[in-house]
Amino acid sequence: MSKIATPEKTQEYLERFYAGVQRRNPGEQEFHQAVYEVAHSIFPYISDKPHYHEKQILERMAEPDRVVIFRVVWEDDEGNIRVNRGYRVQNNNAIGPYKGGLRFHPNVTLSVLKFLAFEQTFKNSLTGLPMGGGKGGSDFNPKGKSDSEVMRFCQAFMNELYHHIGPDIDVPAGDIGVGAREIGYLFGQYKRLTNQFVGVLTGKGLEFGGSLIRTEATGYGTVYMMENMLAVKNDTIDGKTCVVSGSGNVATYAVEKINQLGGKVVTLSDSSGYVFDPDGIDAEKLAWIVDLKTVKRGRISEYADEFNVEFHQGKRPWEVECDLAFPCATQNEVSGDEAKLLIKNGCRGVSEGANMPTEQVGVDAFLEAKIMFAPSKAANAGGVAVSGLEMSQNSARISWSEGDLQTLLKKTMLGIHDQCVEYGQEPDGYVNYLKGANVAGFVKVADAMLAYGVV
Ligand code: NDP
Repeated sequence: MSKIATPEKTQEYLERFYAGVQRRNPGEQEFHQAVYEVAHSIFPYISDKPHYHEKQILERMAEPDRVVIFRVVWEDDEGNIRVNRGYRVQNNNAIGPYKGGLRFHPNVTLSVLKFLAFEQTFKNSLTGLPMGGGKGGSDFNPKGKSDSEVMRFCQAFMNELYHHIGPDIDVPAGDIGVGAREIGYLFGQYKRLTNQFVGVLTGKGLEFGGSLIRTEATGYGTVYMMENMLAVKNDTIDGKTCVVSGSGNVATYAVEKINQLGGKVVTLSDSSGYVFDPDGIDAEKLAWIVDLKTVKRGRISEYADEFNVEFHQGKRPWEVECDLAFPCATQNEVSGDEAKLLIKNGCRGVSEGANMPTEQVGVDAFLEAKIMFAPSKAANAGGVAVSGLEMSQNSARISWSEGDLQTLLKKTMLGIHDQCVEYGQEPDGYVNYLKGANVAGFVKVADAMLAYGVV
């Protein structure tokens, strides 16, 4: 009997696999969504490669190596005892130590972190660096907390996490709600607990082992990805109207790079709404926003007051006409209808700075309309790539120059782009970057897992 699956059999295997994932992980909607999106690309690819499905490689990737869940107890400024939940999901270390950020946000659940750790495994593989996939965090909300409260929380969180991480085991970094301040407190506590100065976290301050351009890398990389996609069509970002969501780390550096490349950014947002500035958010206005967000910890609506532009309360920016869109806030922030609206309004390219910002129906709409679509695992891999370089610098006890790192970031994003083209080009010439990213990310991890046997 042939070991090559027919398209009908492939679909049947996919559905059976997906039903199993849903059954084993009840209620974990985000995790189901991420696994389905990857499996949809991988099953047709492996249909004529029986060694992958016989060894249940994708099934094994969709089951984290390990999940640690722990209590985090800390004291607020009024002396009240607060209890939060901490997590670390170690998804897969076939090609290197677990690597992935920590998220502090009230909507953090096991499902969210499992989806992020699963995605991270493919993303890290795409960078070409030896990093496995992990993710962690807590339902702690840093908003409205004093510096001392954030510090006490970070210390309490690390009191448990330090048992499970290490420079050759698992190297966390920042994500939503975890920026330079939090990484400093976390690293300080790790150092105190272990009496070791090692590269156990990335995104550190420059004074204590951090890497130049790490802060900028995710946003810049997301824009480089768009630049690479446009270059295939002999086009550039120059003169394009761009819509960006979010106003945190990824969004602000995406805006900076778009401006440098001659584009015009007309929106930014946060969870309360978006601002629309038809004149463009230039470097001066952007500096004002970075100060508002990172120093004053203010809201994007204050931009509307300061620069006398519209604020759309409770809305997302996808209704604004644009050439290019950059979702840079959070998961599932572009619905199917919003994706269709973007296409209808003439949007020709989407590069995802946030993780899984587009709902599955929206992704399907982009692919059906055959617009340029760079999925998050490819488009936002610049951050973890520079984190990987920070790990190398820490191990070798050296610091690379900004010029070296800028070159390496650009080269990495081009390498990711080219892998997507290699695995994602369709017979009519359209590049399905989603399929390309999924397959390219899968192959390296899968081959390493095959080499290890059944473990
Ligand atoms: P930040 O915390 O710096 O900023 C997050 C931004 O998204 C804020 O503007 C926040 O607004 C907004 N946001 C968060 N939750 C929601 C929500 N439910 N609805 C609408 N807006 C929301 O995080 P980052 O910029 O670091 O991360 C943004 C995205 O990029 C995430 O998906 C993250 O996983 C991804 N990413 C980040 C990397 C990095 O290097 N930092 C690397 C790779 C991916 P508000 O203040 O109102 O919550």
